[in-house]
Amino acid sequence: MKRNEFNAKHPRTTKSLKEFVISYEKSLAPDVYEKFLNSLDAEIGNAHDEIMALPPGPARARKLQELVEEEIRKNSKFPSTCSKGCSACCHLEVEITNYESEILTELLENGHPIDKDRLKSQSRRELQDPVWKNGVRNVENQCVFLGADKACSIYDQRPVMCRRHAVTSAPINCELPDGKISLCYYPRVDVLIVAASEDPDLRVGPLAKMILFS
Ligand code: SF4
Repeated sequence: MKRNEFNAKHPRTTKSLKEFVISYEKSLAPDVYEKFLNSLDAEIGNAHDEIMALPPGPARARKLQELVEEEIRKNSKFPSTCSKGCSACCHLEVEITNYESEILTELLENGHPIDKDRLKSQSRRELQDPVWKNGVRNVENQCVFLGADKACSIYDQRPVMCRRHAVTSAPINCELPDGKISLCYYPRVDVLIVAASEDPDLRVGPLAKMILFS
């Protein structure tokens, strides 16, 4: 399989997986590169089948979350410096799927406490609204699920986007406007996300909008 065939077959490939695929093209012989793309294609297909075997909705979201967790656990070459209470990334825009939105909506319906005014105000923002860049300690940017103890109040149910965000640089750098941040990159996590995104019933959007309007 050539790169253009791979891209055509997987139009929802993440930006980071695209870059990963391009980076290998430069270092592998053409026949080896084709085999590499074939194997990525097969991995996406296998993961897609595994996820699609479940009914649309929370079951598919939980399967993806489980596969992503397993992948990160198995392939974590460098220990992440993220820890409970360092919550800078919980002040950034988070995108979730409609299936994850169902999980979170159920939690809210069952009385999980959040700041509903902040949820409404965040839901009025456009995707990638510049206001998200206005400081990681701006309370208006704080995720509604971040607890007063600066820990995620829905840790076991948190979206995939939160699970895959693992930093290896010093935590203080996440707080600084120009802090240099290094992130762990797990290519197979991208493979799993692409596989899940090829579900025709799946939609993705900003957390607050998805909870209130999806
Ligand atoms: S869901 Fe949890 S981990 Fe994700 S941004 Fe919100 S508080 Fe942070």
